[in-house]
Amino acid sequence: MSAQQETLATAQLEHERLTSLISSMADAVIAVDEDLKVVLYNGAALNILDVNGSLRGKSLKSILHLFDQNTQAVNVTNLVKNVSIPTTSRDTLLHYDDGSVANMYVSIAPVRLGYGEAGESGYVILLRDITREKSLEEERDEFISVVSHELRTPIAIAEGNISNAEFMSQKGASLEQIVNALHVAHEQVLFLAGLINDLSTLSRAERGTLHIEAEAINVHELCKELVATYLPEAQKKDLKFHLDLDPHLEVLNSSKLYVREVLQNFITNAIKYTESGSVRLSARQSTNGVKFFITDTGIGISKPDKERVFDKFFRSEDFRTRATSGTGLGLYVTMKLARLLRATIDIESELNKGSVFTITIPSMGSSLETKSR
Ligand code: ADP
Repeated sequence: MSAQQETLATAQLEHERLTSLISSMADAVIAVDEDLKVVLYNGAALNILDVNGSLRGKSLKSILHLFDQNTQAVNVTNLVKNVSIPTTSRDTLLHYDDGSVANMYVSIAPVRLGYGEAGESGYVILLRDITREKSLEEERDEFISVVSHELRTPIAIAEGNISNAEFMSQKGASLEQIVNALHVAHEQVLFLAGLINDLSTLSRAERGTLHIEAEAINVHELCKELVATYLPEAQKKDLKFHLDLDPHLEVLNSSKLYVREVLQNFITNAIKYTESGSVRLSARQSTNGVKFFITDTGIGISKPDKERVFDKFFRSEDFRTRATSGTGLGLYVTMKLARLLRATIDIESELNKGSVFTITIPSMGSSLETKSR
């Protein structure tokens, strides 16, 4: 083999190594020449750009449709040509022909393509779909903002009332006035305790580590207990609270803790979102389990909202919902627990008339470890 042939063979080998390295990359790699025409790309580039067939020779602007966060089209030619040192961005959107959008990590680096003096210059563009990462970041930000907002109000009210009680006791105010202020503070602390309870159940449910201890539940007793607990809350709003039990209910074998928690969530919502009329808790025997109905004569849920009430942080835009406090986590947690209990939930509701939440809970074998997802 002549020296020239040897150099050619080495160059060929290097080229193949480089090509297989680029092909094995999970990120999209697109190399373009000085005129921004594609000279090299990998399979991931075809996937991310969602194109079939060769990109070679195509102009970059014809295949890469980028937009900024304000959905303004980015001039790809200017963007690339203005790059003199490697540049990255995480705020770019890629629009597809079918109207869908993905968040992109984009890295652009000027390079010399080929070898030595004769090599042409160009750019290497790297793309990575970071839509999922972005949505997790957004979800985390939203979570922090909702929770801190929900914490701030009750803490401010409790703090104000406690300091008021202190002040009144020094000024010799009546015992009744002091007790009233302490009562309001106490209510807020109870709300905070409930919120923290929801958050800790949520975090255990999300990690999939909730454990089910099935036990024999006396449904009559449980329902009576729930009515006794929430009757004062209903009475404060002048609402009737009815209990309607199937006399032939059998024992339900399930997690008492979680069954109570889901029923509690439905009952507190029914009371919260009802301005006048009544709330009813009913239980009927179903094949291998118990069907619970929580019925209210409240504000009701619109059709589009019905699809979303189990979403994390969802709260209706209805002004009557906004006038109450809440995190939009209750039904999300309820759905997670219902899955653990292998229960099914159904909603029937009419705006301004009321809602019926139905949950059918099957009897299970004792002590089951279940993943919540
Ligand atoms: P929160 O009550 O903290 O807002 P939930 O997850 O318990 O959160 O409920 C989500 C949303 O579903 C509520 O904000 C409300 O808009 C709607 N909703 C739930 N239960 C009822 C009900 N019984 N009547 C009317 N709307 C309801």
